[in-house]
Amino acid sequence: MREQFPFFAAHPDLVYLDSAATSQKPQVVLNALQDYYVNENANVHRGLYRLAFATTERYEAIRQQVAAFLNAAQAEEIVFTRGTTDSLNLVAQSFGPQTVRAGDEILVSAAEHHSNFIPWQQLAVRVGAKFVVAPVTATGDTDPAAVAKLITPRTRILALAQVTNVTGGLVPVRQLADLVHAVGGVVVVDGAQSVPHMPVDVQALGADFFAFSGHKVYGPTGIGVLYGRLPLLDAMPPVQFGGEMIDEVTDVRSTWAPVPLKFEAGTPNIAGVYGLSAALTFLQAQDWSTVRAREFQLVTALRTGLTQIPGVQLYGTANSLGIVSFTLTGVHPHDLATFLDEQAVAVRAGHHCAQPLMARLGVPATVRASFAGYNTPADVARLVAAVAEARGYFLGTD
Ligand code: PMP
Repeated sequence: MREQFPFFAAHPDLVYLDSAATSQKPQVVLNALQDYYVNENANVHRGLYRLAFATTERYEAIRQQVAAFLNAAQAEEIVFTRGTTDSLNLVAQSFGPQTVRAGDEILVSAAEHHSNFIPWQQLAVRVGAKFVVAPVTATGDTDPAAVAKLITPRTRILALAQVTNVTGGLVPVRQLADLVHAVGGVVVVDGAQSVPHMPVDVQALGADFFAFSGHKVYGPTGIGVLYGRLPLLDAMPPVQFGGEMIDEVTDVRSTWAPVPLKFEAGTPNIAGVYGLSAALTFLQAQDWSTVRAREFQLVTALRTGLTQIPGVQLYGTANSLGIVSFTLTGVHPHDLATFLDEQAVAVRAGHHCAQPLMARLGVPATVRASFAGYNTPADVARLVAAVAEARGYFLGTD
């Protein structure tokens, strides 16, 4: 698999363990971007010439592909966005004020990424709703029992990551969705970290909305997806206005195109859509049970290796989907990451856009290693050896 990623030929010595931030791109995705710009570069939904028709047709065919990929009931339920952040903000800004009233409740987990936390917090402030943050487990994972306990008849929105980005913990969304639906609420699922690691069926999941980013699933940056159940999307107002999202515009009023175009104002990221298509095809060609087994092997090897180093504190569990977060007592995570970088090991260190979670774990930051299909046991060995060396460098050998 690694050979399909030109990045590794360009960086032969680099151990890349930051795929939860962004994945590397296989040649097929790079080819798709080039193919669009060289062979099919025309705007969509506008031109009255054959090339523009063909490009529009391909763009809409890719919408169908994404719908099938997520098992959405129809292509109109797929909105192309700039990414997960953009998708979640769209729901919060359009569906939110329409649905949530003063005194209602919006429920999230303390393990959410800021992009699935702040939009809801700000919506609550705007409409006078209660923003409820469910506590996490001792390992920093979303606690389904704690979330369930906080669902009340006033819960209008439950927003959860299916897989969290600090620990890689998998959240049993379906069970919680059933409870929220029973009180008439909706469920918004942040799939930024789940789509790279598992097949997703939005209907089986009970998701009313589902968001993910192209760049974390071997696709390009600047392209993402929002899935929404058709009756919900249909009733929502657009939040961006401009070209191609209208039905009719006069001096005094405007009406909107049907979904999904009413949410895609302006020229979309057409090349990104082509690249996303290639990335999803690439992802679908994988055997998920093999992917899961390999990731489990890497996570287990890394956790086992790090446990041998005195002072290492691990977060999350062994069932994490391709993410291991840790700290080394006495060494700031940023210093550790800088040391690792000098050994050509790229990891992320920081709060991971999850400050509410860091506050609960009682740390300012962690070091996070995250895997994708191109990582190998040799990458794990390099990281473990480098952390052991860092310990000696910063703390001496005692
Ligand atoms: N949610 C989660 C769980 C994430 O890991 C990320 C990316 N770090 C996001 C949302 C935001 O994704 P993007 O930056 O692509 O919009």
